[in-house]
Amino acid sequence: MPNSTFSFHLEKTVGRARIGWFETPHGRVETPIFMPVGTLATVKALDTQDIAATQAQIILANTYHLYLRPGMERLQAMGGVHQFMNWSKPMLTDSGGFQVFSLGKTDGGVKITEEGVGFTSHLDGSKHFFTPERAIEIQQQIGADIMMAFDECTPDQADSRYAREALDRTHRWADQCLMAWEARDRHSVYGQYQALFGIVQGAMIPELRRESAEFMVARPFDGIAVGGETIGYNMAGTAEVMGWIEQLLPADKPRYAMGLGLNPSDLVAAVKLGFDMFDCVAPTRLARNGAIYVGEIQGTGENVEFVSEWPKGRLSIGNSRFATDQSVIQPGCDCHTCQMGYSRAYLHHLYKCGELTYYRLASIHNVRCMVRLTEQLRTQLKLG
Ligand SMILES: [Zn+2]
Repeated sequence: MPNSTFSFHLEKTVGRARIGWFETPHGRVETPIFMPVGTLATVKALDTQDIAATQAQIILANTYHLYLRPGMERLQAMGGVHQFMNWSKPMLTDSGGFQVFSLGKTDGGVKITEEGVGFTSHLDGSKHFFTPERAIEIQQQIGADIMMAFDECTPDQADSRYAREALDRTHRWADQCLMAWEARDRHSVYGQYQALFGIVQGAMIPELRRESAEFMVARPFDGIAVGGETIGYNMAGTAEVMGWIEQLLPADKPRYAMGLGLNPSDLVAAVKLGFDMFDCVAPTRLARNGAIYVGEIQGTGENVEFVSEWPKGRLSIGNSRFATDQSVIQPGCDCHTCQMGYSRAYLHHLYKCGELTYYRLASIHNVRCMVRLTEQLRTQLKLG
């Protein structure tokens, strides 16, 4: 029998950085960890063997997208997300809240009430309503190892009155999520234990962030996430928010910075701020757009940093300077693309032609780069 609970173990701290691991029904995850995003039960351009070869320990799927397509009835008939996508390692689902709000921003079709959020499908214009209970029920049908509480992602520029109301809603909804989680004895419809994380919100208002952290910490969540527009998007703001709440967070629960991982250097910075878990669509999205990570970890302990000769740690493979460059993307890289010896010139050619193989080879490198970074952080931090 798989283990029936979720447990986090802190091995070592170096400054504010933490090294640890947690257990899920689909295996152990060592932290800090980067989680590739598999929006529609696929990390774009990669199959599960490719994902496994990047050494990714856990991947994310998006509740909003899976709910709309293939839909819960079909996903449940297929035995849940693990079985459906042929992935046997840990998974995490978001609550759908972020997509509802961010997609709603562009089409204006989102209506927030005290009960939940009404939205219009971006696929066919059909109307839907998510309540906290429904968001948990859908995640129980998806069957990931870790679920997220349904929250309201507050924009940075929210005025204090709106931020206050949104936070009160997020907190009420968190308690409703906890009840829906307990109602199924914390298990998915497939009979497997599911962890539930609470999400700290509060825009850019220190008192609200602290209040939210205290609220989440006082409840039986298995982990604490930090959300909001700033997190991952603005590293200075992310550091500010973490500075306000870090002292309030318990040592024995993982801390998840939602949507963080645009640049390799962001991961290093966030680990040094005391976060353990990260996800971002950037590595695969950037790869598809011709931006490929190049650089390496240097230093030990608190002096660890990501060093690159390229601005933002990326090269633009479409640049004509690579048209006859015979070297691999990054000499010494242990990803499939570099190990197979595919040259920058070949990738430049594939990219220019829009060839499908390009998306796979570039995505493999970028995902492996982020996953390896977290592996190296574990090693290099310990040497401090
Ligand atoms: Zn590589």
